[in-house]
Amino acid sequence: MGRGRDEQHESAPESVEEGPSAGLAADALVGSRRPVLSATAAEWRGWMVERGQPAYRARQVLDWVIRRRAESFEPMSDLPRALRQRLDAEWTVFGTRVVYHDVAADGTDKLVLACRDGRRIECVLMTEGPRRTVCLSTQVGCGMGCVFCASGLKGVERNLRADEILEQVLHLRNLLPPEETVTHLVVMGMGESLANLDNLVAALDRLCSAEEGLGMSQRRVTISTVGLPAKIRRLADLDRQYHLAVSLHAPTEELRNRLVPVNEAIGLGAVLAAADAYFQRTGRQVTYEYVLLAGINDQPADAQALARLLATRRAHVNLIPYNPVAGLPFERPDPESIARFVAILRDRGVSVTVRKTKGRAIAAACGQLRRRLDPDRDPTTPPESGRAHDPHFGFQLALSTED
Ligand code: SF4
Repeated sequence: MGRGRDEQHESAPESVEEGPSAGLAADALVGSRRPVLSATAAEWRGWMVERGQPAYRARQVLDWVIRRRAESFEPMSDLPRALRQRLDAEWTVFGTRVVYHDVAADGTDKLVLACRDGRRIECVLMTEGPRRTVCLSTQVGCGMGCVFCASGLKGVERNLRADEILEQVLHLRNLLPPEETVTHLVVMGMGESLANLDNLVAALDRLCSAEEGLGMSQRRVTISTVGLPAKIRRLADLDRQYHLAVSLHAPTEELRNRLVPVNEAIGLGAVLAAADAYFQRTGRQVTYEYVLLAGINDQPADAQALARLLATRRAHVNLIPYNPVAGLPFERPDPESIARFVAILRDRGVSVTVRKTKGRAIAAACGQLRRRLDPDRDPTTPPESGRAHDPHFGFQLALSTED
């Protein structure tokens, strides 16, 4: 793709790259009690001091929620009882509520959370060796419209707030035994992560803060995006060490326009140029995700074109054999086709892995379980059985995030 196209689209995707209006997100904060994580540590200190409490009480409250796994104020035994009662009157530990929890035979936990406005989001905890990997959602629904994806079927409803993103991690972490914690994060659930960049980075920075969060390494966090160039460059400018995964899914403009319709407004060249800039700025190798759809993008010519595209780049390809979605006309390639695709890339010197699928039996896929849970049904009723798809829901066990 020539430079002209890059320039042409550098500003064009702005409307694509902006998430739903801030008003929609703010509307979600309903109800009288604020979630604890909707306030920063500084805001908490101010709240305590205004009420005649020592500022260090703020740290105690946050420590109970973030590190000590409290899910109510009652167990916060080093706080005066009167303060706990006051906290309980004005705050709630979590603003989101677990309405569905399932565990797959391979140990993958899947939660559906209800937000305070009734909207539902999904998150997943995967266990592999010593890794405890959480896959997060960043939006309710998704506006990118990838034709093979369940999350985008009804479009995007709103961005998640930073505290709603954080709470996904804590709800899942609280399922782990006391001696274990979350080791890796992948932002590959429902939504286009970079369309909600500010809230996402606020949440991730807090999780990675030793002072205010879980002290996770930024290098163990992977942010997946369909490829919003201006947002990728903004993320690079923030000078973090988050790992970037670009959902490419096609090696040519024409095919990507068909599979990832938002590409028409962006252009493959602009996506790759922004990913190159991310690598140059951060020194972090970019991963390209590629969902393999039988007969659509899994042919030898596709693998050859993909290898040509990445030949001059220091990049890694993560192949994701498709898990079909009921009602969508795509199939998973057979093992021989997958092996052939891998061999063509390897022969041409491209670093490649095939994503392991976990949690299929519980529909651990972006938007899939949420879609099957009718909001009007009893939320404790399991969804009917069905096949899962996971173009995103992030089983990045083969990804090159650091140990
Ligand atoms: S694959 Fe990802 S970016 Fe595409 S519609 Fe689904 S959630 Fe959105």
